[in-house]
Amino acid sequence: MPLVDSHAHLDMGELKEGLSKVLERAETNGVKVIVTVGIDRESSREAVRIARENPNVYATVGIHPHNAKGANEEDIAIIEELAKDKKVVAYGEIGLDFFKNFSPKKEQIDLFLRQLEVAERLNLPVVIHERDSKEELYPILRSRGQREDQGVIHCFSEDLPFAKRVIELGYLVSIPGIVTFKKAENLREVAQKIPLSSLLLETDAPFLAPEPFRGKTNEPSLLLWTAMEVARLRGISLEELAYVTSLNAKRLFKIDLKI
Ligand SMILES: [Zn+2]
Ligand SMILES: [Zn+2]
Repeated sequence: MPLVDSHAHLDMGELKEGLSKVLERAETNGVKVIVTVGIDRESSREAVRIARENPNVYATVGIHPHNAKGANEEDIAIIEELAKDKKVVAYGEIGLDFFKNFSPKKEQIDLFLRQLEVAERLNLPVVIHERDSKEELYPILRSRGQREDQGVIHCFSEDLPFAKRVIELGYLVSIPGIVTFKKAENLREVAQKIPLSSLLLETDAPFLAPEPFRGKTNEPSLLLWTAMEVARLRGISLEELAYVTSLNAKRLFKIDLKI
């Protein structure tokens, strides 16, 4: 029963320091594949290095909207080179975050558009970070047209109607550990009702540990608790959920995974 953690930050803090143990615990809990995600030039470089050193880890590269401010063409050129590595399976995380607004809106939008172009040229699916920005995000996604498996909205935080709209365009929806939190009614509805073929699971480690670990450092092994909750919500076995979500990840990221 393989599980795929479609979004983690293995280059960060405690995860990076204790990486071999982190990967061992993931394996013990059935998490056979981890996609580690870049958020700027340095972290993208690290993601690629970690993926090259560990057969079950794949990487994505890109500049997070928080880091839009100050990002330049040289960063993008370096990331585009990194993206050519065989272990790189997607471009991201990129997107819009108007909740924290660490970078001005216009800079976020410009950088997002610029990176979508690069992803297109590289023929890679995109990993999208979206927070309080669906009104601006949706027209941008729609302008790219409808195409199967063109990306994933990671750590999905919107409602079911929005999930359906992005799924229609060919994006997958990735469910984080928040689905186990008491107040996450909207996300539980999304996890329950979207088509199984559009569903991915993620930890977003080291952030957002699921219950009963909320507040602690998250890590890929804890994906199991998120998976159990989503299986319960869907009324299917953990094995079936693991099978379908792994198949989805395999298809989106074109990874070599025996399931
Ligand atoms: Zn994110
Ligand atoms: Zn992330």
